[in-house]
Amino acid sequence: MLFFSHPACLEHDPREGLYGHPEQPGRLRAIEAALAARGWLGWERREAPTASEGELAMVHPREHVEAIRELCRSGGGAIDGDTYAGAASYEAALRSAGAACALTRALLAGEARVGFAAGRPPGHHADPSRAMGFCLFDNVAVAAALAIEELGVERVFVVDWDVHHGNGTAEIFRRRDDVLFASIHQGGIFPGTGALGDAGSGPGEGFTINLPVPAGSEEDVWLSLLEHVVLPAAAEFEPQLVLISAGFDAHRDDPLAGCRLETSSFAQMACQVRDAAAGWGAPVGAVLEGGYDLEALADSVVATMAALGGEGETVSSAPEPLVTSRAASHVSHYWSLA
Ligand SMILES: [Zn+2]
Repeated sequence: MLFFSHPACLEHDPREGLYGHPEQPGRLRAIEAALAARGWLGWERREAPTASEGELAMVHPREHVEAIRELCRSGGGAIDGDTYAGAASYEAALRSAGAACALTRALLAGEARVGFAAGRPPGHHADPSRAMGFCLFDNVAVAAALAIEELGVERVFVVDWDVHHGNGTAEIFRRRDDVLFASIHQGGIFPGTGALGDAGSGPGEGFTINLPVPAGSEEDVWLSLLEHVVLPAAAEFEPQLVLISAGFDAHRDDPLAGCRLETSSFAQMACQVRDAAAGWGAPVGAVLEGGYDLEALADSVVATMAALGGEGETVSSAPEPLVTSRAASHVSHYWSLA
């Protein structure tokens, strides 16, 4: 089990330009303190390298990378009302993407079966040419592209359980059939994308799964969608690598959204993904996204890592997907495309 991070990820601080910003260095400090208190769960810690220009270029046009770099070099500033880059943010963003890439390389080299990339800024809202939603580069997308373009993988499954739709990742792979992207997210909140009926485009139709859930949704809804919709579709896809866009803002204590997962819910989701991936013979890499209540975030990361590392058992949720009729018709839609 491998854990990647870098001290430079603590130097990116949107509060420099956006007062009271929730995506702050204390998030990573809380995670690392909670892990240290548990002896890092026995995981090996590695320092994240910087992502190379070539790695970023698999997802982001050179102009976007240069624009972020120049903004940071000039002292930084707000990119929009949510998104900020300061003088230290370019290095942090390179390490954050680099953590996801290094994790992917290590997993595919057989150095570990599971791992966690704990970088910040997060990534899943970043479009190819546009930073947004606290995100500068799409870390998980860069890692997925790297796996396919350089590391010999033909099919990557990205499951995004952050409470917000992973619009950047969805857009990057919208027209591709070699990355299956599945997102469970609260409908009606930022970024406003991820409608149930959006299943991808062109050759990528059927390879995007968007499952918006209502505010107030609890563990039974999330777990049943994962068990009965997402993982069966992923099994058909036969992925060789599983990446989790691991946000923890669907926790009931999170201040940014309205879902009601418990800390143990993340462990259950991780158990489900772990066991499914083991059946497919695919390694699992989790990449940190959101999560803004420091205690809930730290505890949920520990629970997720413990589960990925083998603790706990998958408990089957409901006999069929909750939010039933729409989700069930969704499944048959995917089967019809398969
Ligand atoms: Zn989020």
